[in-house]
Amino acid sequence: MDEDHPIATERGSAGKPARPTRRRFLRGLLAVGGLGLISAAGGITHYLATLYGAGEPQRGHLVLTGARVLAGEGLEPRGGTAVLVSDGMIAEVADEDDLVIPEGAEVVDLSGHTLLPGLIDLHVHMGFPQLERGEEMGPAQMPGYVYDIARYAPSARRAFLDHGVTTVRSLGDEYAWVMEMRRMLQEGELEGPRLFAAGPTFTTPGGHPIVTFGVEKDSDTVRIPATPEEARRIVRALATGDDPVDLIKVVQERGDPARLQMDPIPTEVLAAIVTEAHEHGRTVTAHWGTQEDLAEVLAAGVDGVEHLEARGVLEGWPDDLLALLVERGVAVAPTLAVTEAAISPEKHERLRERLGEVHAAGGRIVASSDAAIPGVPFGGGLHREVELLADSGLGPRAALVAATSEAAKVLGTDEIGAIAPGRAADLVAVRGDPLENIERIRDVSTVFRDGRLVVER
Ligand SMILES: [Zn+2]
Repeated sequence: MDEDHPIATERGSAGKPARPTRRRFLRGLLAVGGLGLISAAGGITHYLATLYGAGEPQRGHLVLTGARVLAGEGLEPRGGTAVLVSDGMIAEVADEDDLVIPEGAEVVDLSGHTLLPGLIDLHVHMGFPQLERGEEMGPAQMPGYVYDIARYAPSARRAFLDHGVTTVRSLGDEYAWVMEMRRMLQEGELEGPRLFAAGPTFTTPGGHPIVTFGVEKDSDTVRIPATPEEARRIVRALATGDDPVDLIKVVQERGDPARLQMDPIPTEVLAAIVTEAHEHGRTVTAHWGTQEDLAEVLAAGVDGVEHLEARGVLEGWPDDLLALLVERGVAVAPTLAVTEAAISPEKHERLRERLGEVHAAGGRIVASSDAAIPGVPFGGGLHREVELLADSGLGPRAALVAATSEAAKVLGTDEIGAIAPGRAADLVAVRGDPLENIERIRDVSTVFRDGRLVVER
């Protein structure tokens, strides 16, 4: 095992490989004195009561009637349609008059509602505290934050489901922590959205988020390979170990010469990361900043790009880069909700025009919020993103496709993302019709996760 390899070191010292993380985590809490505060707040009973554990799996038959159903991968609006859910899966989508309701089925009347597939947020950080824009985390919030982390972010998991977000993709969280959360969600121990995770972010010692957010170079949140060989070794370990990551996230960012210059990943290292990831069937998505950064990640062959950066394309797309994006079907996740809070309304409108050009050229666009960047809350951030996508030339339906079936394709799964037989019954009912007015997606009344009722209001 390599001395400098954080995963190897952790495994080596963990003893029993089954559940090393929790012990490691409790040690970390003791170190910051958080455990004392937790005990003071009510101890283990409270810990368990607020863990937000999962309910019983849905069994038998459930029939949803009365709603306008956005059916299939294209989200075709269908009136007079019933959805039959059996044991957590969508069994049938049929005309209400034709559907034979199985004996003993529970029937839920969703008249006045629109039923959509559960929303998918392709860019989140589960371990971020939820802050307003400009708000800093002070000592008063610290114990609450530590407590939340210790319980695998119940407030984030709850907020996602409350907003009808039933699947999220973590693009940069503490590796061991987020993998433990993914396992607990998969095993039905915790309630929350389905979790796909990149684990740590690939960057450089002089790169984001090390010089921007002060993330420690040797933390479990980042990997900083210096050579192509090291890059391949680290990607292989992440993709094939006990906790294989779902994808790889890289940061290619030169920063802003006027404010903060940063070191991007050397192109040969970047190429090695992408090649090795693809050899293990993992996609790579890239944070980028300048046009040069974008050109480099596309040359390396990434599958997705995060953010639509004013620094890079505000003045217009270089023809060759736009053509490459479209030709290769690179998934563009513009995170407009983040930039909306950061640049002037005029500039943001031009950025949305740039996105409209990607859409008009036949490019692939997906919804992602980057929550919980301050000002972009879990769940609510994705609603805003979908509204902004709709307002960038996509219109409501394509914006919703970007947050459902197209996002599922980017995740490489056909188990979610559409109301169709054979898919998981991750479903959201909203009041009114979001195809008429996209803001209706905020009015969530009912959410099912694998057919299990998780929100009703
Ligand atoms: Zn992010």
